[in-house]
Amino acid sequence: MLEYPKAIAGGMEICLRLFPEAEGIIVIEANKPEAAARMRREISGRDLLPDGKGIRVMLHRAKYPQGAEKMLIYTVTGQEIPSGALPADVGCLVINVRTLYHIWRAVVEGIPVTERIVSVTGDAVANPKNFLTPLGVSVRELIEAAGGFAEEPAKVLSGGPMMGISMRALDVPVTKGTSGILALTARSAPQVEESNCIRCGRCARACPMRLLPSSLDRAVRLREYAEFEAMGGMNCIECGSCTYMCPAKRYLTQTCRDGKAGVMAARKKTQTAKSAGEKK
Ligand code: SF4
Ligand code: SF4
Repeated sequence: MLEYPKAIAGGMEICLRLFPEAEGIIVIEANKPEAAARMRREISGRDLLPDGKGIRVMLHRAKYPQGAEKMLIYTVTGQEIPSGALPADVGCLVINVRTLYHIWRAVVEGIPVTERIVSVTGDAVANPKNFLTPLGVSVRELIEAAGGFAEEPAKVLSGGPMMGISMRALDVPVTKGTSGILALTARSAPQVEESNCIRCGRCARACPMRLLPSSLDRAVRLREYAEFEAMGGMNCIECGSCTYMCPAKRYLTQTCRDGKAGVMAARKKTQTAKSAGEKK
């Protein structure tokens, strides 16, 4: 937002032309006043709707996982997305700021997505940096460009500390979904064994989607995917809050991911069987 405000505001304008009745709201965490001021300057005077509405900036409290689509829609509009529904079902479209930038570049300059900004950080990295890098560059090359490892990492994540996925190899390409590389020493990411659930309820209190992560975890471990689905497991946004809070260090987010994959596999199997039956 600080470096490409014109392209971001322009991308929003292009989207609003596709949805003439819509209002564009750029939501920024309140601890980023410079970005808010820069975007406000950029959008001033852009009235796209007859009633003077167009694009506006809204500040919200910096609180994890506020950036998640469903959380953001609730904060901005007060609307909850029903289970199984999409943002469009409540009249919303959530677009990442980087996507707005790329929409503008594609439409105005005719340039497709060939690069992205990747943060290489964590206490195992010698010189943490943000890189504007071409897609396809290997993660290993990026880490080397950041001075390599200052210490042997205990864990390297693709993504952030809460939602990042642990990487087994570094010779993999940066894709358009690679937001960051986080390399942590054993001090920051101690390897702890999970233990039995003590039914403290902290995971349920932490869950922004009001799920019962301990019950979902149990259902997935028993491969009871129908039960997982019935308990609303497909609404899990994989924010990692339950895992972070769990004193027994249960792999709750991972089991939710597994549960969602299990439900999808079961749905596909049913669909395939149905299609095969129809062909007979
Ligand atoms: S990861 Fe855990 S806390 Fe986050 S939505 Fe899923 S179940 Fe809830
Ligand atoms: S936070 Fe962990 S120990 Fe507590 S109820 Fe949830 S799964 Fe069980």
